[in-house]
Amino acid sequence: MTGDLMHGYREPHSPVPGQRAALDTARKLATETFSARADDYDRRAAFPAEDFDDLFAAGLLAAAAPREYGGLGFGPQQRNTLPLWELTTTLASADLSLARCWEGHANSLVLIDALGTPEQKRRWFTGVVERGEKWVAWSGEPRAPKPGEAGRFGTTLTPVEGGWTVRGTKAFATSATGAQWAILFVDPAGPGGARHAQAAPNGRAAGSGLLMLACELSDPTVSVDSSWWDPVGMRATVSHLVRFDDTFIPRDHLLGTPGSYLTGRWQAAFVPHYASSFLGAAQAACAYGLEYLRKQGKGADPYVRQRAGSMAVNVDTARLWLRHVAALWDEGRVEEAGLAGSKARHVVEHLAEETVHHCIRACGARSLVRPSPVERILRDLTFYQRHDNDDHILATIGRAALGEDHDPSFHKP
Ligand SMILES: Cc1cc2nc3c(=O)[nH]c(=O)nc-3n(C[C@H](O)[C@H](O)[C@H](O)COP(=O)(O)OP(=O)(O)OC[C@H]3O[C@@H](n4cnc5c(N)ncnc54)[C@H](O)[C@@H]3O)c2cc1C
Repeated sequence: MTGDLMHGYREPHSPVPGQRAALDTARKLATETFSARADDYDRRAAFPAEDFDDLFAAGLLAAAAPREYGGLGFGPQQRNTLPLWELTTTLASADLSLARCWEGHANSLVLIDALGTPEQKRRWFTGVVERGEKWVAWSGEPRAPKPGEAGRFGTTLTPVEGGWTVRGTKAFATSATGAQWAILFVDPAGPGGARHAQAAPNGRAAGSGLLMLACELSDPTVSVDSSWWDPVGMRATVSHLVRFDDTFIPRDHLLGTPGSYLTGRWQAAFVPHYASSFLGAAQAACAYGLEYLRKQGKGADPYVRQRAGSMAVNVDTARLWLRHVAALWDEGRVEEAGLAGSKARHVVEHLAEETVHHCIRACGARSLVRPSPVERILRDLTFYQRHDNDDHILATIGRAALGEDHDPSFHKP
């Protein structure tokens, strides 16, 4: 892999030996263990640490690392996309917060695989495979303050001998109290990360020099402010506010070349990964709803039948979309995969949302009373869908349909 999705694609993998067994193991863990823990993590807004311990013990933590480094070889960079997304869906059907932390970890491994030097891969994949180290990627520097918000989020970078220092804050820092490593997206032109970067005064495109810097989170200059994170859902992602107080990043922790995240359009590989999580929410709501309706003997009601049918169609439709997009990645049809990924992200968001509402309308109020998982799924999905703006995603798809310039890795109005 050369570090650019457009070039240097590998031949597709034939199914990796043990792939089915790995997915079966994940399914068993999700249904028997992770779903039972989700409520407690949610109530305490606690990182799902024991789930990650179990994933490590089961040999699944390095799923997105290449096999030559001890991983399972799953993911778009390995042209073996669907197993990674299926694994994510499975985790999401137990706990959407767990799936978000997992995605952040898996996407970071995809980036290291694609852009890392052999020495970086050896060092960082060894940490995952042998010590169970967890990764995440942090851009989150929203610039416009909300009412009552005094300061702005953002980081600044200073070149120093042997590397850089990072100073400032990032919000939405998923896995903040659980991960050992974070890939920091830092724009030398000024605060804004990858998502919120402004064009530089010299006219350079926003984020054109964006750096990806691997930061060891045990560094004493990195601190977590957990008072900021009190959201409606996705509470166990612990997406806290993180402060960097002149954190030194050595030069050999630079991943890829400046700007390569944007020029390589890596976000396009991760956009449908979010949809895999949304599908997990839909699957869980559908499964719970059908069991509930059978148990209550409501199947004879024609309206209930309609809603049960819609849930089933929605889940199948979402699966087909993800299969389609995964096949495009594996065939190296990168341009098509990027746009199809945005379409899938858009469609699956709505399918998942509608499925949860069908479940609630068919089952009634008690489906929203704990220990029913549906109330958590509703809260989590409502919040998680804000991760990328669907109006902008659809506008990007519209631009493509109209033959206009469009970027399926970063959606603009
Ligand atoms: C559960 C969860 C976990 C997350 N985890 C991570 C993570 O691990 N790493 C990470 O980097 N980020 C993460 N994010 C953050 C996410 O990527 C966004 O940065 C965050 O949602 C932005 O917050 P906001 O919507 O309040 O702010 P804003 O960025 O201010 O956006 C508000 C809305 O306005 C739109 N908007 C913004 N600017 C404009 C404009 N100029 N014109 C018109 N519309 C505009 C946005 O698209 C959005 O819909 C996470 C988000 C969630 C919900």
